[in-house]
Amino acid sequence: MKRRLLGAFAPLSICAGCFSTPTPLSPGVSGSVGLPHHGVLTNGAELPISGTGFVRYRQHGTAHWGNPRLVRALEAVARQVAQERPGGAPLVVGDLSAQDGGKIPRHTSHRSGRDVDLAWFVTTPARAPVRNPGFVNVEADGLARLENGGGYVRLDVERQWLLVRALLTSPDVDVLWMFASRDVEALLVDHARALGEPPDLVWRAETVLMEPADSLAHDDHIHMRIACTPEEAVLGCEGGGPRWEWLEPLPVLREDVAFLYDAAREDPLDAPHEEAPARTPDPVADAPEPPPLGPSG
Ligand SMILES: [Zn+2]
Repeated sequence: MKRRLLGAFAPLSICAGCFSTPTPLSPGVSGSVGLPHHGVLTNGAELPISGTGFVRYRQHGTAHWGNPRLVRALEAVARQVAQERPGGAPLVVGDLSAQDGGKIPRHTSHRSGRDVDLAWFVTTPARAPVRNPGFVNVEADGLARLENGGGYVRLDVERQWLLVRALLTSPDVDVLWMFASRDVEALLVDHARALGEPPDLVWRAETVLMEPADSLAHDDHIHMRIACTPEEAVLGCEGGGPRWEWLEPLPVLREDVAFLYDAAREDPLDAPHEEAPARTPDPVADAPEPPPLGPSG
Protein backbone atom coordinates (compact mmCIF):
# COMPACT_ATOMS: atom_id res chain seq x y z
CA MET A 1 0.00 0.00 0.00
CA LYS A 2 2.76 2.40 1.03
CA ARG A 3 4.80 1.58 -2.06
CA ARG A 4 1.83 2.06 -4.36
CA LEU A 5 1.11 5.45 -2.85
CA LEU A 6 4.72 6.52 -2.98
CA GLY A 7 4.76 5.67 -6.67
CA ALA A 8 2.60 8.69 -7.27
CA PHE A 9 5.19 10.97 -5.74
CA ALA A 10 8.53 12.33 -6.85
CA PRO A 11 11.14 12.88 -4.11
CA LEU A 12 11.12 16.66 -3.82
CA SER A 13 8.59 18.31 -1.58
CA ILE A 14 5.02 17.70 -0.59
CA CYS A 15 1.97 19.29 -2.14
CA ALA A 16 0.82 21.38 0.84
CA GLY A 17 -2.90 21.54 1.33
CA CYS A 18 -3.64 18.59 -0.94
CA PHE A 19 -5.31 16.58 1.77
CA SER A 20 -8.46 16.90 3.76
CA THR A 21 -9.97 15.42 6.89
CA PRO A 22 -10.01 11.61 6.92
CA THR A 23 -13.47 10.28 6.18
CA PRO A 24 -14.77 7.02 4.78
CA LEU A 25 -14.49 8.82 1.43
CA SER A 26 -10.79 9.57 2.01
CA PRO A 27 -9.40 6.20 3.07
CA GLY A 28 -5.89 7.17 1.97
CA VAL A 29 -5.61 9.85 4.65
CA SER A 30 -4.68 8.70 8.15
CA GLY A 31 -2.34 9.14 11.07
CA SER A 32 -1.12 12.66 11.77
CA VAL A 33 -3.21 14.52 9.23
CA GLY A 34 -2.86 18.14 8.23
CA LEU A 35 -1.02 20.97 9.95
CA PRO A 36 -0.31 21.16 13.69
CA HIS A 37 -2.74 24.08 14.00
CA HIS A 38 -5.25 22.75 11.50
CA GLY A 39 -5.19 19.00 11.61
CA VAL A 40 -6.53 15.82 13.13
CA LEU A 41 -5.18 12.49 14.35
CA THR A 42 -6.15 8.92 13.67
CA ASN A 43 -4.59 5.75 15.07
CA GLY A 44 -2.92 7.74 17.84
CA ALA A 45 -1.16 6.23 20.85
CA GLU A 46 -1.91 7.13 24.46
CA LEU A 47 0.86 8.25 26.79
CA PRO A 48 0.38 6.38 30.09
CA ILE A 49 -0.14 8.39 33.28
CA SER A 50 3.42 7.52 34.27
CA GLY A 51 6.34 5.34 33.30
CA THR A 52 10.06 5.02 33.91
CA GLY A 53 11.34 8.56 34.28
CA PHE A 54 8.17 10.44 33.41
CA VAL A 55 4.78 11.41 34.71
CA ARG A 56 1.88 13.14 33.00
CA TYR A 57 1.13 16.63 34.28
CA ARG A 58 -2.59 16.00 33.92
CA GLN A 59 -3.69 12.66 35.31
CA HIS A 60 -7.08 13.13 33.72
CA GLY A 61 -8.26 15.01 30.69
CA THR A 62 -8.07 14.06 27.06
CA ALA A 63 -4.88 15.61 25.65
CA HIS A 64 -2.47 12.74 26.07
CA TRP A 65 -2.64 11.15 22.64
CA GLY A 66 -0.06 11.47 19.94
CA ASN A 67 1.54 10.08 16.88
CA PRO A 68 2.75 6.65 18.05
CA ARG A 69 6.34 7.61 17.19
CA LEU A 70 6.12 10.63 19.46
CA VAL A 71 4.69 8.65 22.37
CA ARG A 72 7.32 5.96 21.91
CA ALA A 73 10.07 8.59 21.83
CA LEU A 74 8.84 10.28 25.01
CA GLU A 75 8.84 7.01 26.91
CA ALA A 76 12.30 6.14 25.58
CA VAL A 77 14.01 9.48 26.27
CA ALA A 78 12.54 9.73 29.77
CA ARG A 79 13.89 6.26 30.50
CA GLN A 80 17.25 7.22 28.99
CA VAL A 81 17.64 10.35 31.14
CA ALA A 82 16.65 8.37 34.25
CA GLN A 83 19.28 5.76 33.45
CA GLU A 84 22.06 8.18 32.48
CA ARG A 85 21.53 10.36 35.51
CA PRO A 86 19.62 8.35 38.13
CA GLY A 87 18.19 9.83 41.28
CA GLY A 88 16.34 12.65 39.58
CA ALA A 89 12.72 13.64 39.50
CA PRO A 90 10.57 12.43 36.62
CA LEU A 91 10.06 14.39 33.42
CA VAL A 92 6.67 16.11 33.67
CA VAL A 93 4.86 15.77 30.35
CA GLY A 94 2.17 18.30 29.55
CA ASP A 95 -0.44 18.20 26.83
CA LEU A 96 -0.13 16.26 23.62
CA SER A 97 -3.30 16.02 21.49
CA ALA A 98 -6.82 14.67 21.82
CA GLN A 99 -7.44 11.09 20.73
CA ASP A 100 -8.89 12.22 17.41
CA GLY A 101 -6.87 15.41 17.25
CA GLY A 102 -8.48 18.73 16.44
CA LYS A 103 -8.75 21.77 18.67
CA ILE A 104 -8.10 21.36 22.39
CA PRO A 105 -8.31 23.95 25.17
CA ARG A 106 -5.30 26.20 25.90
CA HIS A 107 -3.58 25.58 22.56
CA THR A 108 -3.74 26.75 18.99
CA SER A 109 -1.63 23.84 17.72
CA HIS A 110 -1.42 20.35 19.29
CA ARG A 111 -4.06 19.21 16.79
CA SER A 112 -2.34 16.50 14.78
CA GLY A 113 -0.47 14.48 17.42
CA ARG A 114 2.95 15.98 16.71
CA ASP A 115 3.19 18.55 19.52
CA VAL A 116 3.96 18.04 23.19
CA ASP A 117 4.73 20.34 26.11
CA LEU A 118 7.55 19.30 28.42
CA ALA A 119 8.04 20.97 31.78
CA TRP A 120 11.63 21.70 32.85
CA PHE A 121 13.69 19.36 34.93
CA VAL A 122 14.34 21.36 38.11
CA THR A 123 16.24 21.13 41.37
CA THR A 124 16.11 23.03 44.61
CA PRO A 125 18.42 26.07 44.69
CA ALA A 126 20.91 23.76 46.45
CA ARG A 127 20.66 21.43 43.41
CA ALA A 128 18.69 18.59 44.98
CA PRO A 129 16.39 17.14 42.29
CA VAL A 130 12.73 17.92 42.82
CA ARG A 131 9.66 17.25 40.75
CA ASN A 132 8.57 20.28 38.75
CA PRO A 133 5.48 21.52 40.59
CA GLY A 134 4.00 23.01 37.45
CA PHE A 135 4.95 25.26 34.61
CA VAL A 136 7.43 27.54 36.42
CA ASN A 137 9.01 30.50 34.63
CA VAL A 138 12.79 30.14 34.41
CA GLU A 139 14.72 33.41 34.25
CA ALA A 140 18.10 34.12 32.67
CA ASP A 141 19.91 33.01 35.84
CA GLY A 142 18.22 29.61 35.68
CA LEU A 143 16.02 30.26 38.70
CA ALA A 144 12.25 30.18 38.82
CA ARG A 145 10.22 31.76 41.59
CA LEU A 146 7.40 29.56 42.90
CA GLU A 147 3.97 30.97 43.55
CA ASN A 148 2.67 31.93 47.00
CA GLY A 149 6.08 32.51 48.54
CA GLY A 150 7.22 28.97 47.85
CA GLY A 151 10.79 30.00 47.21
CA TYR A 152 12.73 29.06 44.10
CA VAL A 153 13.64 26.10 41.99
CA ARG A 154 16.57 25.94 39.60
CA LEU A 155 16.65 24.66 36.04
CA ASP A 156 18.39 21.27 36.09
CA VAL A 157 20.57 22.14 33.11
CA GLU A 158 22.33 18.77 33.09
CA ARG A 159 19.16 16.68 32.88
CA GLN A 160 17.50 19.18 30.58
CA TRP A 161 20.39 18.93 28.13
CA LEU A 162 20.34 15.12 28.37
CA LEU A 163 16.67 15.27 27.41
CA VAL A 164 17.29 17.61 24.47
CA ARG A 165 20.17 15.46 23.29
CA ALA A 166 18.12 12.26 23.61
CA LEU A 167 15.31 13.79 21.57
CA LEU A 168 17.64 15.12 18.89
CA THR A 169 19.24 11.70 18.50
CA SER A 170 16.05 9.66 18.90
CA PRO A 171 15.53 6.90 16.32
CA ASP A 172 11.77 7.45 16.58
CA VAL A 173 11.36 11.14 15.82
CA ASP A 174 12.92 14.06 13.98
CA VAL A 175 12.57 17.26 15.96
CA LEU A 176 11.14 20.12 13.96
CA TRP A 177 11.01 22.69 16.73
CA MET A 178 11.72 23.01 20.41
CA PHE A 179 10.09 26.27 21.34
CA ALA A 180 11.86 27.65 24.41
CA SER A 181 12.99 31.02 25.69
CA ARG A 182 16.29 32.50 24.54
CA ASP A 183 17.52 32.48 28.11
CA VAL A 184 17.00 28.74 28.52
CA GLU A 185 18.45 28.06 25.09
CA ALA A 186 21.60 29.98 26.09
CA LEU A 187 21.92 27.99 29.32
CA LEU A 188 21.54 24.68 27.48
CA VAL A 189 23.86 25.50 24.60
CA ASP A 190 26.56 26.86 26.91
CA HIS A 191 26.32 23.68 28.96
CA ALA A 192 26.53 21.47 25.85
CA ARG A 193 29.61 23.34 24.61
CA ALA A 194 31.25 23.07 28.03
CA LEU A 195 30.66 19.30 27.94
CA GLY A 196 32.40 19.11 24.58
CA GLU A 197 29.35 17.77 22.78
CA PRO A 198 29.79 17.23 19.01
CA PRO A 199 29.52 20.58 17.19
CA ASP A 200 26.90 19.33 14.73
CA LEU A 201 24.69 18.18 17.61
CA VAL A 202 25.03 21.56 19.34
CA TRP A 203 24.31 23.30 16.04
CA ARG A 204 21.14 21.23 15.58
CA ALA A 205 20.06 22.12 19.10
CA GLU A 206 20.64 25.82 18.41
CA THR A 207 18.66 25.47 15.19
CA VAL A 208 15.54 23.83 16.58
CA LEU A 209 15.51 25.66 19.92
CA MET A 210 13.59 28.82 19.18
CA GLU A 211 11.78 31.50 21.10
CA PRO A 212 8.61 31.98 19.08
CA ALA A 213 7.86 35.50 17.95
CA ASP A 214 4.12 35.09 17.83
CA SER A 215 3.29 33.47 21.17
CA LEU A 216 4.48 33.25 24.77
CA ALA A 217 8.22 33.24 25.42
CA HIS A 218 8.09 29.59 26.49
CA ASP A 219 10.17 30.20 29.61
CA ASP A 220 8.03 27.69 31.52
CA HIS A 221 8.32 24.66 29.24
CA ILE A 222 9.58 23.31 25.94
CA HIS A 223 6.97 22.91 23.26
CA MET A 224 8.35 20.24 20.97
CA ARG A 225 7.04 19.43 17.51
CA ILE A 226 8.15 16.49 15.44
CA ALA A 227 8.44 16.38 11.65
CA CYS A 228 6.36 14.24 9.30
CA THR A 229 8.11 11.23 7.82
CA PRO A 230 7.87 10.85 4.00
CA GLU A 231 5.43 7.97 4.49
CA GLU A 232 3.25 10.08 6.79
CA ALA A 233 3.37 12.98 4.32
CA VAL A 234 1.87 10.71 1.67
CA LEU A 235 -0.95 9.91 4.08
CA GLY A 236 -1.72 13.57 4.80
CA CYS A 237 0.83 14.83 7.35
CA GLU A 238 1.76 18.43 6.59
CA GLY A 239 4.29 21.07 7.57
CA GLY A 240 4.52 22.87 10.87
CA GLY A 241 8.06 24.14 10.31
CA PRO A 242 11.07 24.12 8.00
CA ARG A 243 12.24 20.92 6.39
CA TRP A 244 15.72 20.99 7.93
CA GLU A 245 18.53 19.92 5.66
CA TRP A 246 19.35 16.88 7.81
CA LEU A 247 15.83 15.48 7.37
CA GLU A 248 14.86 13.05 4.64
CA PRO A 249 13.21 14.97 1.78
CA LEU A 250 9.45 14.68 1.48
CA PRO A 251 7.84 13.38 -1.69
CA VAL A 252 5.90 15.65 -4.01
CA LEU A 253 2.91 14.72 -6.12
CA ARG A 254 3.75 14.05 -9.75
CA GLU A 255 2.04 16.62 -11.94
CA ASP A 256 -0.27 14.13 -13.64
CA VAL A 257 -1.37 12.67 -10.32
CA ALA A 258 -1.74 16.14 -8.78
CA PHE A 259 -4.15 16.95 -11.59
CA LEU A 260 -6.26 13.89 -10.74
CA TYR A 261 -6.23 14.83 -7.05
CA ASP A 262 -7.37 18.35 -7.86
CA ALA A 263 -10.13 17.03 -10.12
CA ALA A 264 -11.26 14.56 -7.46
CA ARG A 265 -11.34 17.26 -4.81
CA GLU A 266 -13.72 19.45 -6.77
CA ASP A 267 -17.02 18.85 -5.05
CA PRO A 268 -19.97 19.82 -7.24
CA LEU A 269 -22.10 20.18 -4.11
CA ASP A 270 -19.83 23.04 -3.09
CA ALA A 271 -20.18 24.83 -6.43
CA PRO A 272 -22.34 27.96 -6.29
CA HIS A 273 -25.81 27.34 -7.59
CA GLU A 274 -26.18 29.35 -10.76
CA GLU A 275 -29.47 31.03 -11.51
CA ALA A 276 -31.01 29.79 -14.75
CA PRO A 277 -30.60 32.51 -17.39
CA ALA A 278 -33.69 34.48 -18.33
CA ARG A 279 -35.37 32.77 -21.28
CA THR A 280 -36.56 34.59 -24.39
CA PRO A 281 -40.30 33.89 -24.81
CA ASP A 282 -41.09 31.37 -27.56
CA PRO A 283 -44.19 32.49 -29.52
CA VAL A 284 -45.33 28.88 -30.04
CA ALA A 285 -44.31 27.14 -26.82
CA ASP A 286 -45.37 30.08 -24.70
CA ALA A 287 -48.72 30.64 -26.48
CA PRO A 288 -51.66 30.51 -24.10
CA GLU A 289 -53.41 27.20 -23.81
CA PRO A 290 -56.39 27.00 -26.19
CA PRO A 291 -59.74 26.76 -24.46
CA PRO A 292 -60.81 23.17 -23.80
CA LEU A 293 -62.95 21.65 -26.51
CA GLY A 294 -66.59 21.29 -25.73
CA PRO A 295 -68.25 17.90 -25.36
CA SER A 296 -68.28 16.02 -28.57
CA GLY A 297 -70.18 13.24 -30.21
ZN1 LIG B 1 2.52 23.54 23.43
